[in-house]
Amino acid sequence: SPTAGEVTIDQLPLREDLRGRSPYGAPQIDVAVRLNTNENPYPPPGELVDDVTDAVRAAAAELHRYPDRDAVALREDLAAYLSVATRVPLTERNVWAANGSNEILQQILQAFGGPGRSALGFEPSYSMHPIIAAGTRTEWLPAPRRADFSLDTEVAASLVAERSPDVVFLTSPNNPTGGSIPLGELEQVLRAAPGLVVVDEAYAEFSSQPSAATLLDSYPAKLIVSRTMSKAFAFAGGRLGYLAAAPAVVDALQLVRLPYHLSALTQAAARAALRHADATLASVARLASERDRVAEALTGLGFAPVPSDANFILFGRFADAPASWKSYVDHGVLIRDVGIEGHLRVTIGTPGENDAFLTASKEVPR
Ligand code: PMP
Repeated sequence: SPTAGEVTIDQLPLREDLRGRSPYGAPQIDVAVRLNTNENPYPPPGELVDDVTDAVRAAAAELHRYPDRDAVALREDLAAYLSVATRVPLTERNVWAANGSNEILQQILQAFGGPGRSALGFEPSYSMHPIIAAGTRTEWLPAPRRADFSLDTEVAASLVAERSPDVVFLTSPNNPTGGSIPLGELEQVLRAAPGLVVVDEAYAEFSSQPSAATLLDSYPAKLIVSRTMSKAFAFAGGRLGYLAAAPAVVDALQLVRLPYHLSALTQAAARAALRHADATLASVARLASERDRVAEALTGLGFAPVPSDANFILFGRFADAPASWKSYVDHGVLIRDVGIEGHLRVTIGTPGENDAFLTASKEVPR
């Protein structure tokens, strides 16, 4: 907040529709156990760090030049990874990359949303979807989930048909609740959608469900699958998100992307990290089994964890979730208050971090 004599935000000629809004903000607090932003708790292996360093050093020698505007080599590498991971043959023409999947989602709404257009999402879900809609002046249409946070796709499909949004967001596994949407159910929504369906698969590597990429062939003019290297790939600090779609979607996004949006350093670092995908992704199975252990332990403590297919768990109930969140911080454990009454969300960490979380869970007020 401004000090005396400084101009305040209210004095700026800010767009009326942005006045009074809050920025996205997971608190970045320096405590011992940080389980609040769904990162991979395992730091990159030494060989990856060395390879990234070498790649960045080589790229640094060319920093007087703009990078490859189309990031073709990186998109080829991402397409190769995704083809293996999803068993759907994809080329660089199907893949687009940006600074985190947040930028991917923003580019999608810049191209396909905007004034006079709408985007629909099933809440609670990823809080950036409505924020990016607001930033691009896309009308946001919130739609409900069941009381247990799962998605009733029959209700969803009829709502989509009725409201006719230009873009539908489906998050699978859903953040912050953790459940995935089976492909058959997802297809119900796809069939009903008059416009685009963006399946946000930020946590797909942790999920037991097949990727929506399997449906790209059947719905080339409707489906976009969004992915990120921030979670399973342990590359949150590198900022690299991507999508899979028909080549025409990639062509459309070129109309709104800033030229040279992906720096030469980002492209080089991401390609080096991808060469070590096997090592990084080895943590996925470990995290999934830790997730199941933590869920079971929470149940044993009398909590109700929501079944999760991701690397986090939403759990309740608390009489006063914000007060309990604060008590966790006092116990040296940072988790997330996602604004769902009676609930908090914990990211799965290392076994030691999870134990610290479970110990604190015995002591915090309910
Ligand atoms: N989608 C979902 C569902 C997420 O949870 C996140 C990260 N919290 C993102 C997208 C964006 O992540 P990034 O920009 O790091 O790729």
